[in-house]
Amino acid sequence: MPPLFYACTAETKRKGRCQNDAQVEGRCLDHPTAPRASQPDMIQVELHVNLEQSQGLELGGIPRRGIYEGIPPKSTQVFGAYGLARVQISHAVQEMRENGYGAEEPSLLQRDETMDILVLPFSRTSSSRDIPAGVEQFLCVTWGYCKVLVAPNSEDGRVIHIVNCAHKLSFPPLYELSFEEGLWGVKEPSETRP
Ligand SMILES: [Zn+2]
Repeated sequence: MPPLFYACTAETKRKGRCQNDAQVEGRCLDHPTAPRASQPDMIQVELHVNLEQSQGLELGGIPRRGIYEGIPPKSTQVFGAYGLARVQISHAVQEMRENGYGAEEPSLLQRDETMDILVLPFSRTSSSRDIPAGVEQFLCVTWGYCKVLVAPNSEDGRVIHIVNCAHKLSFPPLYELSFEEGLWGVKEPSETRP
C-alpha cells in the first residue's frame, strides 16, 4: 500500500527537497533529471510521550531541555501533510546506524499539559553512544502517526531531517519506515508482532 503522497526526491536550492508530489520514478514533472536530495547531516527522531512515560524517562536519567518549538515552518513533508499511519520506525533506525549515523544524547522537551517530546538525535559526527534501554522501547512500537520532514537549510548549512511520531499503539504496524539513504520510503512490515 503506497503512501498517498511522496515528495519528489530532487534537491532544491540550498540542499532542500522538492515539495511537489512525485509522479514518475520518485520525481515531479519539473525534476526528471535534477540531482537527488542530499543525505542528512542530522536526523532528529521526535516521539510524543505522555507525562507518566516522560517521568519514567527522567527518572532513568534523560535530561529535560526546555520547551518544544514545533516543526520548523517551510519543512518539506516527505509523506505529505498527514504523514503515515500505523508505522514502525525501528527498521529505519537500524538502517541509519548501518549508514554511519550515531545516537547522540536523548532529551525531553515540554509540549503541552498532557504530552512531552522525547528527542533522539542521530548524526554522522556523533561517537555513537548506546541508546538507553528506557528509550529503546519507544523505537520498537507502532506509532499511530509519523511525519518525516526535511527542514529548510539551517544557518550553518547542515541538512536536518525530522521523524516525528505520535500516538503509541498496541497493535501491529501497516508500514515500516525505511531510511533509503535519506530519501525515506515505506515497506511492508517484515515481522508480525503479537
Ligand atoms: Zn520536484
